[in-house]
Amino acid sequence: FKINMEDLELHDVLGKGNYGEVRKVRHTKTGVEMAMKEIRLELDASKLNAIIMELDILHRAVSPEIVEFYGAFFIESCVFYCMEFMDAGSLESLLNGPCSVPEPVLARITSRMVSGLAFLKDSLQIMHRDVKPTNVLVNSRGEVKLCDFGVSGQLEKSLAKTNIGCQSYMAPERIKGESMAMPSTYTVASDVWSLGLSIVEAGLGVYPYPPETYSNVFAQLQAIVHGDPPQLPAEAYSDVARAFVAGCLEKVAERRFTYAQMMRHPWLVADQERGADGVDMVGWVKGAMQKRKEKKEAASRGTTPVTPTNA
Ligand code: ATP
Ligand code: MG
Repeated sequence: FKINMEDLELHDVLGKGNYGEVRKVRHTKTGVEMAMKEIRLELDASKLNAIIMELDILHRAVSPEIVEFYGAFFIESCVFYCMEFMDAGSLESLLNGPCSVPEPVLARITSRMVSGLAFLKDSLQIMHRDVKPTNVLVNSRGEVKLCDFGVSGQLEKSLAKTNIGCQSYMAPERIKGESMAMPSTYTVASDVWSLGLSIVEAGLGVYPYPPETYSNVFAQLQAIVHGDPPQLPAEAYSDVARAFVAGCLEKVAERRFTYAQMMRHPWLVADQERGADGVDMVGWVKGAMQKRKEKKEAASRGTTPVTPTNA
């Protein structure tokens, strides 16, 4: 069925990205709760129509590791994109400092991400192009799914112009390629780098190239291209886990793990052997959501004036 704005009841804002906000909505005819992403674009109707048509292939992206797509429409120069609502939010929002993700949970998250990426490549012949912890969504059933992958060339082109941000998940070859204005250096191995960096971020609890360490974005990108790749902290993660991540964060793209190699790697084989009930994902999500809530409450208490305000 087609989704229209008239059939949607708007609820809370779930988050904001570089291009607009994501809201919880309810589709009144079916009662289905959805997340609606608003993407502001300065484009004419024909280009917007092209985007909506290209997004249609998302209806074929049906897999347990991919956030379900419900439909998209545009109003004026905004594209509205409706997808499955993931009630625990992004992986990034569930990180609570260093080593807050136990190794079996991290392995399960990784295996879901690898399955999702392999599905996109094998079934739809697409690369993700934007793997990062805010694009890994989680729900309270303990499911982990990918969103925001590049299916629309027109949309990518329109967004690229405004692409900013101080946390780069771009692989070294992509950074080098962009600086020489040759965007064709992007291959599936570039997604593998971004995957590795996301896993390390989950383990560290912070982005592995902290902006405060570098005097500017250029220096930060130089560190990605020329420095040693980041690692999972040895005090909390096994050598097998660290070896897996090192295989994803090979600076030379040709030496990086393929999805087949990752699935055969002892770290993910062990995860598979633990089985569906072998890792308490539901418990971890519940705990992480609770901690997130407490942090938020503490932060809002911290900024509340000491003298009571009688509004
Ligand atoms: P960028 O703009 O660089 O892609 P981003 O991924 O953080 O960054 P958005 O994709 O706009 O930006 O998402 C904003 C936030 O909204 C996410 O970080 C996530 O917390 C929340 N969000 C997005 N999609 C959903 C969803 N389907 N269910 C629940 N929360 C979501
Ligand atoms: Mg996103």
